[in-house]
Amino acid sequence: MKLTGKVAVVTGAASGLGAAIARAYANEGARVGVADLDAAAAEAMAAELRAAGGEAMGLGMDVTSEAQVTQGIDALAAKFGGIDILVSNAGFQHLDSIADVSFDNWKRILAVHLDGGFLTTRACLRHMYAQGRGGTVILMGSIHSKEASVSKGPYVVAKHGLLGLCRTVAKEGAAHGVRANLICPGFVRTPLVEKQIPELAARMGLSEAKLISDVILRTTVDGEFTTVGDIAEVALFLAAFPSAALTGQSINVSHGWNMG
Ligand code: NAD
Repeated sequence: MKLTGKVAVVTGAASGLGAAIARAYANEGARVGVADLDAAAAEAMAAELRAAGGEAMGLGMDVTSEAQVTQGIDALAAKFGGIDILVSNAGFQHLDSIADVSFDNWKRILAVHLDGGFLTTRACLRHMYAQGRGGTVILMGSIHSKEASVSKGPYVVAKHGLLGLCRTVAKEGAAHGVRANLICPGFVRTPLVEKQIPELAARMGLSEAKLISDVILRTTVDGEFTTVGDIAEVALFLAAFPSAALTGQSINVSHGWNMG
């Protein structure tokens, strides 16, 4: 078991990538805080992990709320004895061009990804620094942390911002034994992407099949989607990695869509 004795919190853990990471961590012996905006779904996921023999706590948490983040992280640390691993993963997509996007939608997407990334990281760092046993921060970026696509401006900007947060935490955390890394997935067929496919197809005047082959997967090496299992494997590898040889990195998991 790679994470025995570790306490992890995963945000956006009721669905998609976060759910797969929460399951992978619990399978490897971590005690897991399952945080999500959807409190009932977070509790259901935590119950699933407990039924499988793990230890887990459901946390209803809006990552854009300073009070909810602080209370949730503090409650988890009090229950399980500190925090060793953060996976800041909660997010959503909003399709709009920069010329069209409303200020409200711009702020909404920056709030969930950037404010959420900051608030959860700060709350966990305070525990990690005080505990004196190090820790690891994993932020969920995207290939859009490194590239732009049309109709995804606010998301692209937010995901680029997380790269800066990751690199800063890697530098500041080093003195406390805290590492920080960014996972950059390509397209994974979670609810976030299933919702996007028909919307993008309509915007571009393409069939969904054409959108997938000629746009979404066009620049991968093999025309394959990345899977939730692929991302959970990388999140596990990063959480279990033993030293600061691996910090401040952004790791593409995208079937070669981006190689930078
Ligand atoms: P998803 O829609 O399956 O899951 C996202 C989860 O985040 C949901 O459970 C939702 O309730 C939760 N959430 C949304 N807003 C929240 C908030 N304010 N506070 C707390 N929880 C909130 O999506 P996913 O594909 O699993 O995405 C997870 C992360 O991965 C996101 O940050 C997304 O940008 C990123 N990502 C996804 C892909 C992909 O192709 N699916 C690619 C690159 C990056």
